[in-house]
Amino acid sequence: MKDILIKNVDIITPKGIIENGCIVVDNGVFDYVGEQKEEILKAAYKNIMDKKNMMAAPGLVNAHTHSAMVLLRNFSNDYPINKWLFDYIIPAENRLSSEDIYWGTTLAIAEMIQSGTTAFLDMYLHMERVAEAVSETGIKACLSKDVIKSQVRNNQVVIDKEGFKQFYDQWHNFDNRIKVNTEIHSVFLYDKASLIEAANVAKAFNTSIHIHILEGVGERKMSMEMHKMSPLEACLEYGILDVPVTAAHCIHLEGRDLELIKKKNIIPVHNPSSNLILGSGIAPIVEMMEKEKIPVALGTDGAASNNNLNMFEEMHMASLIHKGLHMNPELMKAGDVLTMATVNGAKALGFNNTGEIQEGKEADLILVDLNKPHLQPFRNHLSAMVYSVQASDVDTTLVNGKILMEKRELKTVDIEKAMAYIKEFKI
Ligand SMILES: [Zn+2]
Repeated sequence: MKDILIKNVDIITPKGIIENGCIVVDNGVFDYVGEQKEEILKAAYKNIMDKKNMMAAPGLVNAHTHSAMVLLRNFSNDYPINKWLFDYIIPAENRLSSEDIYWGTTLAIAEMIQSGTTAFLDMYLHMERVAEAVSETGIKACLSKDVIKSQVRNNQVVIDKEGFKQFYDQWHNFDNRIKVNTEIHSVFLYDKASLIEAANVAKAFNTSIHIHILEGVGERKMSMEMHKMSPLEACLEYGILDVPVTAAHCIHLEGRDLELIKKKNIIPVHNPSSNLILGSGIAPIVEMMEKEKIPVALGTDGAASNNNLNMFEEMHMASLIHKGLHMNPELMKAGDVLTMATVNGAKALGFNNTGEIQEGKEADLILVDLNKPHLQPFRNHLSAMVYSVQASDVDTTLVNGKILMEKRELKTVDIEKAMAYIKEFKI
């Protein structure tokens, strides 16, 4: 007996829309995706989900976040980025306990599951507690573990290869849904020797690197002072680009930057809400995606600079700001933006068998309730996903074929307990 039949749904597949189709999920993967054939409907299943008036879409992938930063949501807004970071965020982070991080991550995961995110790329403190929350809640994640203990936070360099190894050994490939890669926060915080060491760890463990590149306008100058090179040239020189790199932001590109991104197959992650709220600027996504065919992914960044983890809002924003900026509505089409938020995100996380509803792929999907006034009359599935669907329209979320939410009820997160902790939390 196969696991799940989802019937009477419209399905967004890589080959187009299947109207009133069905999906069979078995052993964590899509076993059948297509028309409602008699023999498929008649077979026996452990769970039959009749989801009339719903649309099945691939689960969204948040390709750059710091999930436990939900603890700092609405904590310091309307300040310049350096004041935001050095005067507010870092001092507050120094006061966060590992217990805070655990519950903050749990809350963030609840928010992600409820807004249709099935996988995320995370970089933060106390990653062992982040991994614990991910392991318990059933969501998929690539967790970026640091090697260089931060100079800014401790005012000294410690290279922690042993800590990295322990984390990697414990969590990499856990339950076929956690991956571990190497965090290098950015090049302007660390010296040459530390950056080379961190790149060597990534090479030794064969992981990708998750880094911030050219977010703030001052970053190039800081890198020139410290390394006598631009951030991307420093990455090239120190061996960071010898492994696959996922680079958040990529806003202030100049000179050889675009060429290096293309040549070294860097996956840039666009974080439009965060870039706008911090006044960081608008990344040249059209140049990267439409002209250079670079597979840009999409992320929310942390909720301290967003101030939510809602990928529907991010898709909406990503399409609209570039149409407006270039005065061209034909750019950043809905289908391309959905690709950023699904397939390209999966690549950025190193999950190569998800991001699309297709037979044989991992069963990460969401069901969107179309029976809503703001989605009627219902015409175009891709336009609806990017321009009209609200996060609260997500009815069901599946990861590796496991139901994490149905009828908006969270199945794997003790939300009452998480909310109780968060309400008592003080920074
Ligand atoms: Zn970030």
